[in-house]
Amino acid sequence: MIEIIRVDEPALAHLILGYLETHGIPGEVVGDQAFWSDGSMVPRDMRPTVRVADEHAEDARRLLQEFEDRRTSGESWFCPKCGDVVPPAFAECPVCRVVRPPRKAG
Ligand SMILES: [Zn+2]
Repeated sequence: MIEIIRVDEPALAHLILGYLETHGIPGEVVGDQAFWSDGSMVPRDMRPTVRVADEHAEDARRLLQEFEDRRTSGESWFCPKCGDVVPPAFAECPVCRVVRPPRKAG
């Protein structure tokens, strides 16, 4: 497994993982828990990290770049079917798979 990105928020790590998985890249999030399974504290500098298999690392980095571009520049949108607020990084609703409606001109 190769480390793709390290983030501050466990929720963001899982959002990124979900995004990669919708593009056919399986991965895992490590370091998103406060305690190890034996009950000892996870070090504070162990931040949530997204990892993917070595052969997917290049694709994952490219997707992540797109993800970051959209996350920082895009706007959340409402799914026309279920009404959920969908983060800008998603091109389709993660709940019902409705494709994002085209942006209004201007
Ligand atoms: Zn939906």
